[in-house]
Amino acid sequence: MREKTLTDSTANFYRAELVERKDITSDLAIFRFRPNGPFTFQPGQFATLAVESGDKRIQRAYSIASSPEESLLELFIELVEGGKLTPRIWELKIGDSVLLRKRAAGGFTLDEKSGMKCHLMAATVTGISPFVSIIRTHQLRLARKEAEPLRFAVIHGASHSREITVYKNELEETARDGWLSYIPTVSRPWEDAEWQGETGRVEDVIRKYADALGFDHTNATCYACGNPQMIENVKAIMLRARFRKERVHEEKYFQLKD
Ligand SMILES: Cc1cc2nc3c(=O)[nH]c(=O)nc-3n(C[C@H](O)[C@H](O)[C@H](O)COP(=O)(O)OP(=O)(O)OC[C@H]3O[C@@H](n4cnc5c(N)ncnc54)[C@H](O)[C@@H]3O)c2cc1C
Repeated sequence: MREKTLTDSTANFYRAELVERKDITSDLAIFRFRPNGPFTFQPGQFATLAVESGDKRIQRAYSIASSPEESLLELFIELVEGGKLTPRIWELKIGDSVLLRKRAAGGFTLDEKSGMKCHLMAATVTGISPFVSIIRTHQLRLARKEAEPLRFAVIHGASHSREITVYKNELEETARDGWLSYIPTVSRPWEDAEWQGETGRVEDVIRKYADALGFDHTNATCYACGNPQMIENVKAIMLRARFRKERVHEEKYFQLKD
C-alpha cells in the first residue's frame, strides 16, 4: 500500500470530511472524519486514507480508534517528518477532506476463536488506537448485556507522558468498572519530572503486570501494536512465558531499518 497510479478507481474511495481535530503535541493529533458513505469495520481494523498527487495516489493505513457504533471515524496519527502522507494530513483544516478507501481491512481484531477470557494488549503511542476501538465497543456491548465478561489489560508506552495522555482519562475511567487494567508507562522519566506513574518500556513491564493480573498462556491472548522493535521484544517475552505463537498477535506500523 504505497504510491499507486490512478488506475485503482476512485469508485473504491469515499471522501471523508475532517470535522474535528485535536492536536496533542506538535506531531501527534486526533482526527475525526465524516465519510460520505457507509463505512463499516470490525474493532481493531484499519482505514486507508489517501490523497492524490499528480497521477499518483498516496495511501496509508491508520488503525481506527472509534467504535463501529460511532458516527465519526477517529484516527490517532503521528506526523512523520519527511513522510509522503502525514505532512499532507497535518495541513488539513476543519471542512477539508481526504480520500478514504471504502473497505476497512486487517485481522488485528479480538481473538474470540481462542476462547481465552483475558486479553493482554501492548501499544506504543498511536498503537493504542485498535485497543481503544475494541474497548469502547466491548463497553457498549456489556452495557447492553450483549458481551460475555472478558478481562483486558492495556499497557501503553511512550518516551514522554504527553504522548499517552490522550486516551489516559478515558481508559482510567473505563478501568473503574473492573474488567480493564490500564497501565501507561514512560521510558524517559528523567525528562518528565511530573510523571508519577510506571516507568520503563512496554516490554520492560509487560511480564510484571501479566503475572500480577494472573494473565498467562492458559487463559490469555496477547496483542502488540505500533513500534516494530517493541513488538519483536514483546513477542519474544511472551513466547518465553509459554504463549503459543498464534496467541500473540501483532500490528507493525512500519518496518525496522537494517
Ligand atoms: C496496519 C497499519 C496501521 C497503522 N496505523 C497507524 C496509526 O493508527 N497511526 C499512525 O500514525 N500511523 C499508523 N500507521 C503508519 C502509517 O500507515 C504510515 O506509515 C505513517 O503515517 C507514515 O506515513 P508517511 O507517508 O507520512 O511516511 P512515509 O513516506 O511512508 O515514511 C517515511 C519513512 O518513515 C518511516 N516511518 C513511518 N512511520 C513511522 C513512525 N511512526 N515512526 C518512525 N518512522 C516511521 C517509514 O518506514 C519510512 O522509512 C499504520 C501502519 C500500518 C501498516
